[in-house]
Amino acid sequence: MTEITNLLDLDPAQLIAYCGELGEKPFRAKQLQRWIHQFGASDFDSMTDLAKSLRDKLKTHARISAPAVISDHTSSDGTRKWLLDVGQGNAVETVFIPEENRGTLCISTQAGCAVNCRFCSTGKQGFNRNLSVGEIIGQLWMAEFELRRTKGIEPGPKGERQITNVVMMGMGEPLLNFEPTVTALKLMLDDNAYGLSRRRVTVSTSGVVPMMDKLSQECPVALAVSVHASNDALRDGLVPLNKKYPLSELMAACRRYLEFAPRDFVTFEYCMLDGVNDTDEHARQLIDLVLHGPEPVPCKFNLIPFNPFPESGLKRSNNARIKAFAQILMDAGIVTTIRKTRGDDIDAACGQLAGEVQDRTRVQERMQKMAEYQKKFGENFGRIVEVPR
Ligand code: SF4
Repeated sequence: MTEITNLLDLDPAQLIAYCGELGEKPFRAKQLQRWIHQFGASDFDSMTDLAKSLRDKLKTHARISAPAVISDHTSSDGTRKWLLDVGQGNAVETVFIPEENRGTLCISTQAGCAVNCRFCSTGKQGFNRNLSVGEIIGQLWMAEFELRRTKGIEPGPKGERQITNVVMMGMGEPLLNFEPTVTALKLMLDDNAYGLSRRRVTVSTSGVVPMMDKLSQECPVALAVSVHASNDALRDGLVPLNKKYPLSELMAACRRYLEFAPRDFVTFEYCMLDGVNDTDEHARQLIDLVLHGPEPVPCKFNLIPFNPFPESGLKRSNNARIKAFAQILMDAGIVTTIRKTRGDDIDAACGQLAGEVQDRTRVQERMQKMAEYQKKFGENFGRIVEVPR
């Protein structure tokens, strides 16, 4: 064993095998895993319940290192964005979005992206490379313990957890980097690591149908699908992957996924593009697509105000149009939220990130409808949200 192994690259079974190679019993792997993922330790000398002989072996053969932080900015609304160096001139973004009852981390799975959605600035950069397990889970590792350090919260299971939800909605198409993504997911769910429930971890895909099926078998977590269009002709132009996996196949894959998913609905992400996909007719087509197909697809919609960038040639739908569009979906009984733009001042509002606030207007008027939605989709859902000006 001459290579230096980054222990962040190893899932629980691999860590046991690694310890075996060092002549250690499986329980040592559990201890080691807790030090790494529950205490954020990177210094083997701090792992005081490991025998000195093991610590010495680890110092020679292993390391624990996440991608280096290039920049770290906090927005006036508390959103914190890190730019991370993943080598050879590539960088990826990780964004933390604090809300009242949860903290969501949006992580990247690839440097660049090959899917090239028309409204996405990441897609315009082209594809550079897949991230490794260590580079994916390293984003959660770095962010959780850095957030704790900033707030003076102790590491370890007793300290207040800062990241309660993870969304794979940063750079890249997670299902085109399948194995490392799934290994990282398993670590997120492992009780000796982050112990997140499957409902609180979301993979967002542009619709890689065979891999959606594979994910449903290997690690079914919550699923978000970037749909962005109400018919194939429109989606072919916005999400080129649609030419390979058209909407009928995508909807069928969503229905299959739900048989194994921790939530009983799929979240459809829909980027609101002025004059492109935001008319009343588009909303009605969406209703047909998800409710009146061969079988309905239990779902909610998340409308994302487009974050314009010059090369796209696209504009954001205005707020009144977004609300009118949402209302048509809601009137058909579909839970619909409008993503609040977060972290504008640090350029973290990339249109791929989660973040919602409750609309405090017209609450009474909507209460009855909301109660129906919550009965149907569970009490945490059906939050009506508002786009800030
Ligand atoms: S929206 Fe997602 S899948 Fe599409 S180009 Fe951007 S990162 Fe890739």
